[in-house]
Amino acid sequence: MSNRPEARPGIMDIAAYVGGESHIPGVDRIIKLSSNEGPFGPSPLASKAHEAEATALHRYPDGGAAALRKAIAARYDLDAERIVCGAGSDELISLLCKAYAGVGDEVLYSKHGFLMYPITARSVGATPVTAEEIDKTANVDNLLAAVTDKTKIVFLANPNNPTGTYLPASEVKRLRDGLRGDILLVIDAAYAEYVTVDDYTPGIELVESTDNTVMTRTFSKIYALGGVRLGWAYAPAHIVDVLNRIRGPFNVGAAAMAAGVAAIGDKAFEEMSRTHNTKWLAWTTEQLTKLGLDVTESIGNFVLVCFDNAADRGAEGADAFLKSRGIVVRRMGGYGFPNCLRITIGLEDEMRAVVDALADYLGRNDPEQGA
Ligand SMILES: *Cc1c(COP(=O)(O)O)cnc(C)c1O
Repeated sequence: MSNRPEARPGIMDIAAYVGGESHIPGVDRIIKLSSNEGPFGPSPLASKAHEAEATALHRYPDGGAAALRKAIAARYDLDAERIVCGAGSDELISLLCKAYAGVGDEVLYSKHGFLMYPITARSVGATPVTAEEIDKTANVDNLLAAVTDKTKIVFLANPNNPTGTYLPASEVKRLRDGLRGDILLVIDAAYAEYVTVDDYTPGIELVESTDNTVMTRTFSKIYALGGVRLGWAYAPAHIVDVLNRIRGPFNVGAAAMAAGVAAIGDKAFEEMSRTHNTKWLAWTTEQLTKLGLDVTESIGNFVLVCFDNAADRGAEGADAFLKSRGIVVRRMGGYGFPNCLRITIGLEDEMRAVVDALADYLGRNDPEQGA
């Protein structure tokens, strides 16, 4: 018998999530493009609302998050009763796993899907199962073919991180229609606010028309509030009931909620962020493609950039070269893309610096012209 506590089965199989790097030894001011954070920082209104809470920190927050749910419902024309808030959408993903999957169950997601899905599945003793993608895009037929008697949850990040690809509304509906009724479909729409293509929806209509679909959203991306930890889920009433039973009674802090209410109300700031992203996403994609890199077409606020296999032109060397210029991006080995980098869309000068650095790395800048 062991004389120390042992974690439950599955937990020691978890490779702990590693966030984007934020330091380069010896460099004071870095360009951080490693975590898909909104490049402008939060809306000034959100910062002000957060600050206003500073003298009331002794008070417990409203455990029902009523004001925040009301603000979200108003902004997106939803039923506030079907919203559950969490400490980041990561918490909601965990709660859904905890409630609906356990030992012996399978949690299905597409091969290059968000890493929190297998981590969370294992944390409850369930087995993560992946379905192959086609062209770095989730594939409905492959997902449906991977369903077994043990499947309890299907996670679909739409758009997906780290590929930036998406399934149109019709394909998400086909996925739902092809899944058994007792399988929970979780549509993780963390980047929905950035999307400008017409055939996309974040999944609200599926949540409202089925008993087994949940949409999760976050304040960490376009609203640039990753530091306060704020996310939400939109779910059928019976799932809302389940989540409210198992979440911490005060799982979202008061200052976070105040910031969230202000952020979601600042439509002008959101619009400015989206317009900026649309422009510089297209520009970055075009420039990096011109350099001969394999850039996956993205509808999020980041691009997946894949390098030639030649050792002196690979992703590892590119990452080191970018770091030498103070630029931090994300290595993708953990996502099954060892020769790719994920680059967040930042400010104009940051994107110019990235393109310039990669041109130098690949030997494509013409020094004569001082390009
Ligand atoms: C960033 C991200 C999240 C997590 O967001 P938090 O709300 O900060 O926990 C969830 N899903 C995907 C796909 C993401 O990229």
